[in-house]
Formats: sequence, C-alpha cells, structure tokens
Amino acid sequence: MKKTTLIFSTLLLTLLSCKQIAQTKSEEKPANIENENSLKAKIESVIVKKHLYALSSDEMQGRKPGTEGMEKATKYIENEYKRIGLKTFKDLNSYRQNFIHDNIEMSNIIGMLEGSSKKDEFVIVSAHHDHLGMKKDGEGDLIFNGANDDASGVVGVLSLAEYYAQKGNNERSILFVCFTAEEIGLVGSNYFGKNIDPEQFVAGINLELIGKQPKTGPKTAWLTGFNRSDFGKIIQKNLKGTDYQLFPDPYTKFNLFFRSDNASLAKLGVPSHTFSTTSIDTDEHYHKVSDEAETLNIQVLTETVKAVAKGTESIIKGTDTPTRIKLTE
Ligand SMILES: [Zn+2]
Repeated sequence: MKKTTLIFSTLLLTLLSCKQIAQTKSEEKPANIENENSLKAKIESVIVKKHLYALSSDEMQGRKPGTEGMEKATKYIENEYKRIGLKTFKDLNSYRQNFIHDNIEMSNIIGMLEGSSKKDEFVIVSAHHDHLGMKKDGEGDLIFNGANDDASGVVGVLSLAEYYAQKGNNERSILFVCFTAEEIGLVGSNYFGKNIDPEQFVAGINLELIGKQPKTGPKTAWLTGFNRSDFGKIIQKNLKGTDYQLFPDPYTKFNLFFRSDNASLAKLGVPSHTFSTTSIDTDEHYHKVSDEAETLNIQVLTETVKAVAKGTESIIKGTDTPTRIKLTE
C-alpha cells in the first residue's frame, strides 16, 4: 500500500512540475496567447442575421449612391470596421475612398488588417454595398432592398473581418472593401483598381448573392472564372475533409466573371474571383423589390462565409499564392 502511495505521489509531483513548466512556457511565448484568441474566432449566425437585416432594411432605401439611405449603410459599415479595429488603407485618412462619378460623390469603404510577415502582399475580401435604390412612383413596395444582392456579400465581408481580426494570424495584409456603384457598371472597383499597384495584390475574394442554396446542392458554392487561375483549386484543397464543396460556375453562358467587381482586379492580372450560391437563372427576386432579408437562408449564408474563411486560409497565411490571370479579350 505504502509503495503505491509513494509511486502515486512521485507521479503527481512529476505531473505538477510538468504543468508548471508548461505554464511558464506559455507565459514566455506570445504565440500561445495568439492561438487562444484564434480558437475563440467564430462566425456566428446571430451576427450574420443582424448585419443582413440592418443593411437590407427599408431605412437604407435601396442603397443607391448619393442618397441618404446609402449614407446610413456607409455609416453602419464604418462603425463595424471601427468596432473590429480595422486600420485605414495607405494614405487614406478614413475608411472612405471618395470620388465623383456623374456628378455624384460616392465612396468605396476600405478597412485593413495589416499582415505580420508579408504586409506588402494584399489579399482583398470584397462585396458591393450599393444597390438599385427606389422606384420613383407606383403602389406598394418601392424599395429595392438588395438583401441577397449584395447585402449578403457585405455581411460576408464584415463577418470575415471580425473573424480574421480575432484570429490575428494573417501573415499577409487583408483589405476588406465594400465597393460602391457596382450596379451601374463596376464603377467603384474600377476606381479602386486605378489607384493600386496590382503586383501587390495576390488574390481577390469577392462575394455576391451568397444567401440562397444553389442548384449544386446543400453546403456548396460556385466560383466564377474557375479555370482562369488556380485560386479555385486552392480553395478546394483547403476544404477537403470538411462537408462543404466548391464548384466551378455552372452558368458560364451568363459571363458572370465579368459582371461583378472581381473583374476590375482580374483585368489587372490579380487572381480575383466571385463566390456565389444563388441560382441566378431561376431566382425570382433578383433585381426585384422583393429581394428582402426574409427570402434568404441564414444558415446557407453563415455556412458559406465559414467555408470561405476555411478555404482561403492558406492564401491569408501566405503558404499558397494563386497563379495570375491573363485576359486576352
Ligand atoms: Zn450584385
């Protein structure tokens, strides 16, 4: 009996001292603290829902550039960037990149998480916060709420910003950009493209219409311009072992690669693609006043944003770099 007790106490002592060593080590190494924060990083459906309902509410008046509603949407996004702790980009002194188009003052909204070891290499996470505004007259609902198009994408941008800020392990810098005036011809993203050095941009992650289950099935999304770089293959590799799958764009005849803001960067050579989950050929609410938050599936939206986070991990960390895009058209 005694012997056993002795062995037991020795074991206990050894265990205790091991624990002590482990504790001292974690105090010495900030990397371990980082890991702890990293484990806490989450994309939660309650937050996703809150952003979606706020951005597509009637108060935002369809988010047309130059309107009061657009200003409200802009302020909402700015407040979130600030709460998350994003920095401003290069020589901008606020999150707004202002410019004038057709005599209307408009702004892209840009926030940055600086990379630790590769701060001059940028990954851009984007969506467009503008939409079609309001019908001038008529009966009933006059507001184009644009819940799926593209409040869903902006929700993705905000959720990913918060997620990566909590993770704190981005080796590359990440730019979170809400582009304006997409609906009138990719105006905001074109302006943005003219003011950057495209060589510093290693990848573009654009989110459009990500709030509905696609025809490719539950827990799937599709990517435009899949074969134009190996970006999509990197995402597929990172999603292996999860229950989420990424497919090439099934609507190639619609030319969607050139119909969203990813194109403004792709034409500069940046491997920049759009994730989507919506059956664009049959969706009854596309560009209608009925594109309301209630018609979206919060679970699909949340799962998709999580999959984008997981799928792009190695690009954010700097271990994968997608091939450049060469456009011949
Ligand atoms: Zn759109």
